[in-house]
Amino acid sequence: MAQLSGKTALVTGSSRGIGRATAERLARAGALVAVHYAENEDAAAEVVATIEGDGGRAFAVRADLAAPGGVHELFLALELGLKERTGSTDLDILVNNAGVMGGVAPEDITPEQFDRLYAVNAKAPFFLVQRALPNLPDGGRIVNISSGLTRFANPQEVAYAMTKGAVNQLTLHFAKHLGPRGITVNSVGPGITDNGSPVFRNAEVVAQMASLSAFGRVGETDDVAAVVEFLAGPGARWITGSYVDASGGTLLG
Ligand code: NDP
Repeated sequence: MAQLSGKTALVTGSSRGIGRATAERLARAGALVAVHYAENEDAAAEVVATIEGDGGRAFAVRADLAAPGGVHELFLALELGLKERTGSTDLDILVNNAGVMGGVAPEDITPEQFDRLYAVNAKAPFFLVQRALPNLPDGGRIVNISSGLTRFANPQEVAYAMTKGAVNQLTLHFAKHLGPRGITVNSVGPGITDNGSPVFRNAEVVAQMASLSAFGRVGETDDVAAVVEFLAGPGARWITGSYVDASGGTLLG
């Protein structure tokens, strides 16, 4: 039997990139997956179709996590979708993956840009965890996507890295809080990962980025998704509060 058979999962920001690869992996492992997106409805529908074409189960849920009612909107659609398909609103696995990058020099970032980064990357994961608490059964799983930039300086991304530092704190403290219920909470820190954005078609830039990894290549989305799948599965029951480096050895220097 597939190891996540009978489980339900929400992967935020799974219309593309690392989230998409994660949704597809969890579904292949047997989970019913809620594919969350903000705007890209067609992309989310394509992920659902791919999963279903593969014999898996999934449905799409929309919510802008930068907007004040975003978490509420997401859970309305999530609970409806779960109830229709399983008869309950239990959510076994929450993957906080949705995120936005900065790429603005420290001298230039505005308070509005900072607030948006913080809203999507740090505030939304906190309130998603809080809102998910009654849905998470004992033994549930929370995986938060952080970043290698919490441990590797890049001044262009100082504000973004600060939001991911907050994600690491979310992991640490909720791991302690939820331990008595057997719920694990862990962070995964990707390094540079090809998410299909145009920069990954520039060979010169890719070669430069690849040189940061001990393996001499940039990450693939599935490299990170495989780590998330492990943490979401039964074999990771004794790991909680961890930061798992999924940067292909970038932090080795
Ligand atoms: P992508 O940029 O490929 O995809 C982002 C996802 O987040 C999309 O599904 C998008 O939905 C969703 N999203 C964007 N804005 C919002 C919003 N306001 N509300 C709700 N959802 C939103 O992401 P990556 O795969 O590159 O990154 C995934 C995670 O990994 C992020 O947390 C990122 O910070 C982290 N990470 C990525 C690295 C990389 O090199 N790629 C490196 C280190 C960490 P839609 O399609 O509808 O816009």
